[in-house]
Amino acid sequence: MSKSLIERTQYAGADLSLSEICELLSITSDIDLDLLWQAADHVRRQEVGEDIWLRGLLEFSNICTCNCLYCGLRRDNTGLPRYRLTEEQILEAVHRLSRLGIGTVVLQSGEDPYFTEERLIALLHAIRNTCDIAITLSIGYRPKSELAAFKRAGAHRFLIRHEIANPDLYRVFHPDSTLADRVEQLKDLRALGYEVGSGCLVGLPGQTVADLADDIALARELEVDMFGVGPFIPHPDTPLGEATPGSTLMTYKMIAVARLVLRDVHIPVTTALSTLEEDGREKGWMRGANIVMPNATPAPYRAQYELYKNKRCIDDTLEHCRGCLGRRVKSVGRVIGQGRGTSLKLLRREVLV
Ligand code: SF4
Repeated sequence: MSKSLIERTQYAGADLSLSEICELLSITSDIDLDLLWQAADHVRRQEVGEDIWLRGLLEFSNICTCNCLYCGLRRDNTGLPRYRLTEEQILEAVHRLSRLGIGTVVLQSGEDPYFTEERLIALLHAIRNTCDIAITLSIGYRPKSELAAFKRAGAHRFLIRHEIANPDLYRVFHPDSTLADRVEQLKDLRALGYEVGSGCLVGLPGQTVADLADDIALARELEVDMFGVGPFIPHPDTPLGEATPGSTLMTYKMIAVARLVLRDVHIPVTTALSTLEEDGREKGWMRGANIVMPNATPAPYRAQYELYKNKRCIDDTLEHCRGCLGRRVKSVGRVIGQGRGTSLKLLRREVLV
């Protein structure tokens, strides 16, 4: 059954039903898994080509007013040293990315009220006036009026993962927001003309295969430009500290099935995946992914952006990361994309308008 289903995904993956997505995510035999990886790799080549795009991740504040149960940055984790980069530190890191030919900066933070609309607009102007780089914001919830202002000030993309598409479980893990609000923000971002990134965690306590199929179906419904999937890694200083980590195999299956269903979407290999498996990036790229996010956060702050413990590559410089990723990309027969790596979905939408 799975073999014929996998074959059908080559040309009709976008139309898979929820039960078919569940069936693919439930594959366990080595033969079927190999077929799944091959199908995802084939569709990746056909839809987005051989480029692997670098997105420079700059974690500019680890202060957060929210209390998500799985996250080391949650406000109740009082043992974590907190930091906020200055505008000068942020600009220096962005310019460093640009000098290395990395065409995107992802400005990521907790939900930090210090970074008001005015401060972020000033920062966006400062970047746009000194640097030719695509800017992604990953700063959590913001009202639509602010999202519009950031877009006018030069932000190109916005990343906010829906994390788990089951509304009841969403409520359990996120005491400060609802799934409906998050979906609303994703829709607002699309309406404002952003390239939109969402994604989910794999292996949260209580999450089922049907929930994961819903995660992919929600991304399809929202027509996201990027879909990131990372395994849940328990942080000891959170209420989920004793929980079992998410499965790397299920994470690879989510990457592969997301590629088959979402087609020309950008799919990153996450740092969490490469933290659990040394060759997680290479496996992810060979199973549907086409993005990686080298860390541009300066020392000593990189280690303090502690979503979970033992994050990979926290002692490496950005230059070292760039060289290492170049070798890894080459080892899987691919090339690093040159330029911004604008969403193919967006480019196709603009052609249709
Ligand atoms: S997941 Fe995001 S919003 Fe939630 S506590 Fe962590 S940094 Fe804050």
